[in-house]
Amino acid sequence: MTPKRVIIPVFVPHAGCPNDCVFCNQRRISGAHRPADENDVVAAIESAKGKFRPETAAELAFYGGSFTAIPAEEQERLLRAALPFVRSGEISSIRLSTRPDCIDEEIIDRLLSFGVTTVELGAQSMSPEVLAASNRGHTAEDTRRAARLLKEKGFSLILQMMTGLPEDTPERSLYTASELIKLEPDGVRIYPTVIVRDTELYDMWKRGEYREHTVRDAVELCAEIVPMFLSNGIPVIRLGLNPTDDLSGGDAAAGAYHPAFGELVYSEIYRRSAAELLKNTKRGTDVVLGVARGKTSLMVGQKRCNIVSLKEQFGLNSLKVRETDVPDGDIKILSIEKG
Ligand code: SF4
Repeated sequence: MTPKRVIIPVFVPHAGCPNDCVFCNQRRISGAHRPADENDVVAAIESAKGKFRPETAAELAFYGGSFTAIPAEEQERLLRAALPFVRSGEISSIRLSTRPDCIDEEIIDRLLSFGVTTVELGAQSMSPEVLAASNRGHTAEDTRRAARLLKEKGFSLILQMMTGLPEDTPERSLYTASELIKLEPDGVRIYPTVIVRDTELYDMWKRGEYREHTVRDAVELCAEIVPMFLSNGIPVIRLGLNPTDDLSGGDAAAGAYHPAFGELVYSEIYRRSAAELLKNTKRGTDVVLGVARGKTSLMVGQKRCNIVSLKEQFGLNSLKVRETDVPDGDIKILSIEKG
């Protein structure tokens, strides 16, 4: 059995960032209002220790900034604070997020010497137009180079992409996904753009220079992107920003923010698969669909939206969902009867 894994997050909001990406206000997104120091690292580990069983693999994660762009001495102070816990086995590994243009051989050697095993790279887009319009300050080639270097050195690589950025189109997002697949990451996170207050994007939206990427736009697009990754054996480990009190309380002014965004996407994927299965069904029939255990709510959809839309699309008399013995994600027609 795989041991349970918990993440102990430590936020370094905006630390190290050489510029301001138009969509970013890490303080509001992460809910943390100042970057952590070495005392915070120790306190986070100590307070998490009592909350999980000894057999659980605990991973320390530095999130919310560009860790490897922080001055080297500061990076070392933070990592050194965690080192005794790594050596004693209380922390099984360390992960951190950073920018693709802040990875080189020297940085990689430092990370390896402090027990970092996973690096998350914010690729965001592989389209030059989108990267420029979002003021990312790096190129798609930086992402390719950093990803290859990290894989060569044995790191677990997580790539992050966004949809709906300025100058983005569905085609450019699909291109980004296909380019990221070529880099063979161990997982991806997909963050549809949210318009957060106190960002350049918020001002662009207010001036009418940016059109909102709505929850609906993002669900439809991610329902195409997620299967691309999954069919290439790449897990999608996060869909949409983590909900926080600040974002839900109004900091997310518009855009693709929904506390259950991932569920909406998987539910749309189920709806599309069911529509494909039902496409030759005669009108007026009673249909029972089988899904894997625990997946009924995804198939049914929020407020039964999938049932309502499939019944209407195919003129069904009734449509029911039962849990059955099928692989996770599959759907099977259990019965079709003329009503
Ligand atoms: S590099 Fe990351 S943390 Fe820094 S401004 Fe851009 S999105 Fe925000």
